[in-house]
Amino acid sequence: MMRGIAVSPGIAIGRVFLKTEQNLDFAEKTVTSAEKELARLAVALKQAESELKELIVNIGQKLGHEEAEIFESHLMLIDDPELIEPIKEKIKDEKINAEAAIAQTINFFSQMFAELDDEYIKAREADIKDVGKRLIRILSGQGKSTTELEENTVVVAIDLSPSDTAQLDTAKVLGFVTQEGSRTSHTAIMARSLGIPAVVGVGKELSVSIKQGRLVSGQTIIVDGNGGQVFINPDFETEHEYQQKREKYQQEQERLKKYKNKEALSKDGKKVEVCGNIGNIRDIESILEHGGQGIGLFRTEFLYMDRDTLPSEKEQFKVYRQVAEKMDGKPVVIRTLDIGGDKELPCLDLPKEMNPFLGYRAIRICLDQPDIFKTQLKAILAASNYGNIKIMYPMVSSVDEVKSANRILWECKKELAKEGKGYSQDLEVGIMVEVPAAVMEADIIAQEVDFFSIGTNDLIQYTIAVDRVNEKVAQMYTPYHPAVLKLIKKTIDSAHQAGIWVGMCGEAAADELLLPFLLGVGLDEFSMGAVSILRIKELLSKWTVEEAAEVSKRVLKLHSPDGIEDYLLKVAR
Ligand code: PEP
Ligand code: MG
Repeated sequence: MMRGIAVSPGIAIGRVFLKTEQNLDFAEKTVTSAEKELARLAVALKQAESELKELIVNIGQKLGHEEAEIFESHLMLIDDPELIEPIKEKIKDEKINAEAAIAQTINFFSQMFAELDDEYIKAREADIKDVGKRLIRILSGQGKSTTELEENTVVVAIDLSPSDTAQLDTAKVLGFVTQEGSRTSHTAIMARSLGIPAVVGVGKELSVSIKQGRLVSGQTIIVDGNGGQVFINPDFETEHEYQQKREKYQQEQERLKKYKNKEALSKDGKKVEVCGNIGNIRDIESILEHGGQGIGLFRTEFLYMDRDTLPSEKEQFKVYRQVAEKMDGKPVVIRTLDIGGDKELPCLDLPKEMNPFLGYRAIRICLDQPDIFKTQLKAILAASNYGNIKIMYPMVSSVDEVKSANRILWECKKELAKEGKGYSQDLEVGIMVEVPAAVMEADIIAQEVDFFSIGTNDLIQYTIAVDRVNEKVAQMYTPYHPAVLKLIKKTIDSAHQAGIWVGMCGEAAADELLLPFLLGVGLDEFSMGAVSILRIKELLSKWTVEEAAEVSKRVLKLHSPDGIEDYLLKVAR
């Protein structure tokens, strides 16, 4: 058994197909005429261009525009002087053949990127390598590698390049397993959009198993894309267990499909919203596929992470606009920078703190360094012309913070108007309610904003004084603590009295046991990771508001987390 990152849900049981690297044999040669090599390179670039254009059309039809974009980026790479010029220089200066010049240049970039521990850059590294392989293959006169697959295949590889995946007959592929890769690697993205279970990043054990002959094509393999486990040559019991799991999962998926295009309604017809949480643009597709009615939380931190400089207004605008357009009028709640705590930001060079979760973070940084805040607010405002965008401030602990943030927002609006840029006049502004102080002041804060979104991930840690990332106290970290549940109720009551709506974007929004409680206390919007959306829509349809209110009343009379959990388990549907 091997363990990796479950990046595309579902269970596959099939036969291993080892996809080994296509052997690109070429010898490094010194050449007498650099001109001749440069001409060969030019021909190869032309050929690569036409291959890529063909792929973009094919993939676009097969998998949609999003996936074809990978090859659009390859097309840009073969036209990018930063990559192509060094290759030409090498040919001219070192008088080596084009294949060797390409291989050396790609290696150089690849090593440079490998030193950066950044998922995004790693994916770009894969793009560069893929382009390099394509060029060398063309120059060496080798044809495209098309792989004949048997039915019920699980593709196992060290890593799969986008081109590798594009050439597979995916109708015959049941699953993917790779040694390398992350949630944002191409294999992961491709697998998710094809709906094929995948586990990536299983580590060195995979290549060792191949080397030692323990992993060969044709063996039976189980891929658990929900739990991240991979079994090779499973025993009878394990295979039987996973066959049943697969059946159950498939039945559940079938059953849940009917909720995709439905509104989220309680049994007696009360309308609520079930939305998705995203960390980048790529997550949107999955949210929509799972019937998300909007984005309840866009964590914008990724735009700022793993880089030396802060993202410009223009750069941010492009991203926010794209998100708004992709959501096509559905609500998109963009949370302003929520950095600090367990999220570091190299481009700000923040000093280490004794108590980072209680320290210089989120809205505190933004109010202290308004330039950073204004750049983001202006980008969001400008993007609000292109969809239904809302702004949300994180980590609010007092009404003064909200007033200060709104004042800065107002300044941004004035500046934009001066610059002749428009913004949506009815853009809503809200806060994350994730600090107990904000709950206690919720009635006052509600006068200043249009909505609340309860961040239970932090609310739990600040309420019970239990670090959300400390395993030693993990058993104390629970949404079923009566104090947490009372704070949730108080937040919702205060908001409704002030006439504003309340969502929840912490993990508790997708907690199946908690659902009747949340419906019962009147939560208006639930926001969560894509895979939970359909199930929560289904569960909502099983409760009337009255039944749910009865559950929440009972829960609020209980005083131990375990007792509450037991009770919720007993009434669960
Ligand atoms: C939360 O605190 O519940 C939340 C949604 O925000 P994050 O997990 O990003 O802190
Ligand atoms: Mg939080």
